[in-house]
Amino acid sequence: MRSITLLGATGSVGTSTLDLLRQDRSAWRVEALTANSSVIELAALAREFDARIAVVADESCLPALRDALSGTSIEAAAGPRALNEAAARPVDITVAAIVGCAGLGPVMAAIEQGGTIALANKEALVSAGEVMTAAVAKHGATLLPVDSEHNAIFQCLAGNAIEDVRWITLTASGGPLRGFSVAELARVTPAQAVAHPNWSMGAKISVDSATMMNKGLEFIEAHHLFPVGLDRIRIVVHPQSVIHSMVEYRDGSTLAQLGPSDMKVPIASCLAWPRRMDTPCDPLDLVAHGELTFFAPDEQRFPATRLAREAAHAGGAAPAVLNAANEIAVAAFLDGQIPFTRIAVSVEEILNETAIAQAPTSLNEVQALDGEARARTSALLESA
Ligand code: NDP
Repeated sequence: MRSITLLGATGSVGTSTLDLLRQDRSAWRVEALTANSSVIELAALAREFDARIAVVADESCLPALRDALSGTSIEAAAGPRALNEAAARPVDITVAAIVGCAGLGPVMAAIEQGGTIALANKEALVSAGEVMTAAVAKHGATLLPVDSEHNAIFQCLAGNAIEDVRWITLTASGGPLRGFSVAELARVTPAQAVAHPNWSMGAKISVDSATMMNKGLEFIEAHHLFPVGLDRIRIVVHPQSVIHSMVEYRDGSTLAQLGPSDMKVPIASCLAWPRRMDTPCDPLDLVAHGELTFFAPDEQRFPATRLAREAAHAGGAAPAVLNAANEIAVAAFLDGQIPFTRIAVSVEEILNETAIAQAPTSLNEVQALDGEARARTSALLESA
């Protein structure tokens, strides 16, 4: 029996993870389950999986969580500190599936325990970059990438030397708006932006896929996870989402990982690592797909990958600022406050007015940068 903590249990990745645990309940002991404010869902999951503790980030939800867990021995807690404390409890594996930089504190708490972390929460790594990778090295933690592209690369690198890599190719579906003109993009509604053709995901990452910022964040994520140099990481649009990413070696061999567009596959790869486990996913049917196609990204219509690449090259504060500005702009778009095309425009405006300070060297510095960039982006969007 292995112990597990699931940060972001009520979300899309959280739900897929719990579906995998349901396949063999006797194999897992659940330590902590967390959410932001989805009290009823969290309490139901905590009861079902007999978790030791359930935590909500939103402190005002604590009374409701206590009510929902009454009659059980499951602890209830709330607030950022409680989240960090729950994440620091020793477990065999932590699945980090909170959305946004809000997940950074708990991820770092798990890393500081020297644990194994299956990381879905890409924004945390984009913002904290070297701070997180240094903590992983210092505490002997293991980061397993859940993001399907990075999980694919991780699998393609197994048994090979990173020095022999010529290219890492991140594949991108291109999202639901791939064929839209600039004029059409300006009129896109939140409902259109979240309607991803291949993947079922939370709202924020769905919008990021539509703007291609998701691929930009993944570019920075890949840079930290697989240190081959920024110039050896490229993006290729592959609308079928069958090849999840590729690694080309110096001898001309390219290894690719293929699979169904279902997050249960990369999550299972992390849960069972270094072994394999069954998933309920349909086998990949290449004949049904018929053809796999590939295109260069169009950075005129979708400038977000350019912004992320520039932020990665600039270093310093830029990746954390890019992420923070994007989180605020995406939330504003989902709230109907700004048009779709304004997301990338505001991120660029905020980056342009940012003095590229030295890279943050501690969690506190990352969080301060993140908070400051959020405030500036909110002010920018309100003034427009
Ligand atoms: P969802 O929006 O579906 O779920 C987010 C989870 O985080 C929920 O449990 C939510 O709780 C919790 N949460 C939200 N805000 C906070 C906060 N401020 N503090 C603490 N917890 C919070 O997101 P996804 O599952 O889609 O994505 C999670 C992460 O995984 C993201 O970083 C995303 O980029 C990454 N990812 C997702 C993929 C996918 O297929 N969905 C694929 C690859 C990566 P509540 O329910 O209470 O709001």
